[in-house]
Amino acid sequence: KKESHSTSHEEQFEIAIVGGGICGLILAIGLLKRNVKITIYEQSQSFREIGAGVAFTANAIQCMRLIHPGIVDALKTVATSNGNPDDPNDYLQFADGFNQKEDEESKIIFKLYAGYRGFEGCHRAHLLDELVKLVPDNVVRFCKRLDHYVDPGDEGKLKLYFEDGSTAEADAVIGCDGIKSKVRRILLGEENPASYPTYSHKSAFRALIPMDRAASALGDELARNQRMHLGPSAHLLHFPVAHQSLLNVVAFLDDSTERSYSSRLSEPGSKQEVVQAFASWGPTVRTITNLLDDEMDKWFIFDTNDHPAPKYASGRVCIAGDAAHAASPHHGAGAGIGVEDALALSRLLELVTESMEKGGRASKQEALTAAFAAFDAVRRERTQWFVGSSRMICNVYELNNAETGNDMDKIYEEIKWRSHKIWHFDIDGMLRQVEDQYKGKLDG
Ligand code: FAD
Repeated sequence: KKESHSTSHEEQFEIAIVGGGICGLILAIGLLKRNVKITIYEQSQSFREIGAGVAFTANAIQCMRLIHPGIVDALKTVATSNGNPDDPNDYLQFADGFNQKEDEESKIIFKLYAGYRGFEGCHRAHLLDELVKLVPDNVVRFCKRLDHYVDPGDEGKLKLYFEDGSTAEADAVIGCDGIKSKVRRILLGEENPASYPTYSHKSAFRALIPMDRAASALGDELARNQRMHLGPSAHLLHFPVAHQSLLNVVAFLDDSTERSYSSRLSEPGSKQEVVQAFASWGPTVRTITNLLDDEMDKWFIFDTNDHPAPKYASGRVCIAGDAAHAASPHHGAGAGIGVEDALALSRLLELVTESMEKGGRASKQEALTAAFAAFDAVRRERTQWFVGSSRMICNVYELNNAETGNDMDKIYEEIKWRSHKIWHFDIDGMLRQVEDQYKGKLDG
């Protein structure tokens, strides 16, 4: 290790964030708030999100607040509360969608308390528009699709190579480049199966239905509140977005086709496919599927469950969000778990700045390596549990799980403890752990 601390110029460090999706942007906002120099390299021509809904639960909202309160303001600007303006308490509500009895099947069979405004649904593109306002233009480079990076292995800068032939340098690289992450592939190696997501054999049909149409067919109570309809080998979820002007609907179906990570994640799907799949379900679910547009997006659900990454960091490179742990969407919390990553990394890089300012023995390269090793040590277990639990809970919703079967009491208990583990995350504990790990690795 270095004998003494270096000059102030050498204390500064610059982070390259590859990918400007929800996690990359939120991380960027957190680092900028802590005066860390960053550049976001995004492959698209602009920040973009798809026209679909996304929801955030209590753990994610609290992490957002700690990363930068402006993120919560951004979320609240676009978020949609439940259909009862007098009661800001949110519940996740479950119905037996397969039940044929007209007055029984749409009834809530159980519900979970998600907290005071503990389930914030929003339109993805609307949220992104608000987040972008917190990121100055001069830290973003568009049309930069990472091809590879080279780590000199010494104290020199890492070099990033983009597909347009341009290059850039940074002291550390954070891959927030999503489920098909290039950074993950380079970090783990082309031959490593954990470099590639695999197909979960589930497809998701996503739609946004005008609320006035949905409410007149379903009634206000059902259309304006979140509901998950359980049933054999499929399930259907909906929640209001865009200030109650749209109903976000996602229908999950089995798909026995084989797909490789290199195939497209989505393709145009048809209403007919969904209507047919739910033809023998109860009347409410059939009414919802009849509301769908003729053409909609069909998503193929890939995840990292079969081959979890053995590490999230190597030297001064790390991966976060879906790049590290892409989950199937059945807990509705994948982005939220990525927000937890962003908080952990924001705190760790703040600690690196503090180490540099205090003038300890460690070089910035050593400090950055310690920070990313601490991130890996603290975040890997929870995030990989989450990926496995997301797959497992899908089987529970679809009455395919051997332990819970179609016993609604057991199903409730299973969903409850797993959801609580996600929502009631000990965030202060995580922050203490990252600090302890960082200090331990720096001194070790
Ligand atoms: P992404 O959003 O995929 O962003 C990656 C970014 O990196 C993109 O902008 C991309 O253009 C860029 N990029 C990729 N490769 C490169 C490269 N080589 N060079 C430069 N840039 C690159 N989560 C929730 O919390 N709540 C929900 O309700 C929810 N619902 C979901 C429903 C469905 C059907 C699905 C499929 C997922 C859902 N999720 C939900 C999960 C959530 O969508 C993801 O976890 C989240 O979007 C991941 O964000 P990210 O920033 O890590 O990756």
